[in-house]
Amino acid sequence: MSSKRILVTGGAGFIGSHLCERLLAQGHEVLCVDNFFTGRRMNVAHLMANPRFELLRHDVTFPLYVEVDEIYNLACPASPIHYQLDPVQTTKTSVHGAINMLGLAKRVRAKILQASTSEVYGDPKVHPQPEAYWGHVNPIGPRACYDEGKRCAETLFFDYHRQHRLRIKVARIFNTYGPRMHPNDGRVVSNFIVQALTGTDITVYGDGSQTRSFCYVDDLVEGLLRLMESPEEVTGPINLGNPGEFTILELAEKVIALTGSSSRIVFKPLPENDPLQRQPDITRAERILGWRPTVPLEEGLKRAIPYFARLIEEKRA
Ligand code: NAD
Ligand code: UDP
Ligand code: UDP
Repeated sequence: MSSKRILVTGGAGFIGSHLCERLLAQGHEVLCVDNFFTGRRMNVAHLMANPRFELLRHDVTFPLYVEVDEIYNLACPASPIHYQLDPVQTTKTSVHGAINMLGLAKRVRAKILQASTSEVYGDPKVHPQPEAYWGHVNPIGPRACYDEGKRCAETLFFDYHRQHRLRIKVARIFNTYGPRMHPNDGRVVSNFIVQALTGTDITVYGDGSQTRSFCYVDDLVEGLLRLMESPEEVTGPINLGNPGEFTILELAEKVIALTGSSSRIVFKPLPENDPLQRQPDITRAERILGWRPTVPLEEGLKRAIPYFARLIEEKRA
């Protein structure tokens, strides 16, 4: 494979840092752009010594002039706690960020991939969600800055494709977990692991019978790479996620067993609009990319737990 110059926006974040690592391992030059809103230098510290890696502090809502062959546009806070801190900036990041990265791709004729999300389906009326489902999103609620921002970014990608013949790829990512997840982002996997490791109560919302599907980050990154490498006519959108479904109570029990924790499970009120079920339909990814996740939940948790244990150790020290 020939070496390319690849831009990863949001490259110091959870998924972005794993992507940078894989691209470097494939022999490419990687330009990681991040404003460190939710990402951290620490996530890419181990890559800094590599002469093919470059880290640039930059906010994608401002223009960026660089020369690259491919762009992975991941910049955007992903967890509700973070994206609701400054909702206007969240929309700007998705919309102005997409415009700037598409403008850049157009100028240098780069291929560009957008990290979209299952949230574009909103509170879905169809289970599991195929890509052809248009979604059910509230445009004025507190989640809209994220959901509608990502929907508008998809619109821009398809319009640049039709109007300017850009080579585009759109991935709709479902719940992903693994090392370098933000420990305080309020997501269920990080919450449960941190609670189990610190011996505090495990907070199950509702009765824990709601289900979710969790994709290990290495599987997700493999899906992104395959989508980028797919034939030109493949634009997506393509769902990437793990269809294996677990109840939240099952997840809590697995985390307790794997950490050998003495934490108790406590039940808290279910947040408003908490979906009963979320599961990707990955038929398209299987057929077009020959991709399906390979890391079972238990194995992925085993790989993620030591990361959180180290963070907690460092905090104590
Ligand atoms: P993350 O918060 O760890 O990473 C996002 C990165 O983008 C961070 O490093 C952050 O500092 C950076 N960023 C935010 N705003 C920026 C801006 N204006 N300019 C430059 N950098 C900016 O989240 P993640 O989980 O790694 O998510 C990566 C992408 O994948 C996001 O676009 C997210 O919407 C998408 N996604 C993630 C999941 C998931 O389960 N983790 C699910 C669906 C979609
Ligand atoms: N842009 C950028 N880097 C580039 C080229 C463009 O950041 O290398 C930005 C530029 O600021 C512009 C946006 O991308 O606002 C969209 O570019 P496009 O060429 O599509 O639109 P125009 O410049 O005609 O408004
Ligand atoms: N959840 C929970 N305890 C927590 C955090 C989340 O029981 O400490 C539940 C939450 O109510 C939801 C599920 O776990 O049913 C997944 O929540 P998360 O915020 O991780 O993702 P999303 O709801 O966006 O799928």
